[in-house]
Amino acid sequence: MTEQHNTSAAGASTPGRRAPAQRHVVAALFVDFGDRDREPRARYECVPCAYRSHVVTGAAAVAAFVETAAEAHRIVCPSRQENHQ
Ligand SMILES: [Zn+2]
Repeated sequence: MTEQHNTSAAGASTPGRRAPAQRHVVAALFVDFGDRDREPRARYECVPCAYRSHVVTGAAAVAAFVETAAEAHRIVCPSRQENHQ
């Protein structure tokens, strides 16, 4: 019989709780605010599942996208499904 204790090596005193390393999800929201001649643009990338959103252009669209892109992808991201909180 194997007893499994889920304690870390040096005892239970871990100062400052850290997120487990395997929960490392890398995602990025790219926003280009543009200038006088260029419209603002934004896109979202998720590294673990290799997702890339389409590029959103226009101030209003970019603003809405920035608000929702991460959350919207988080729901459908395959690399997050296994580790659902
Ligand atoms: Zn993803």
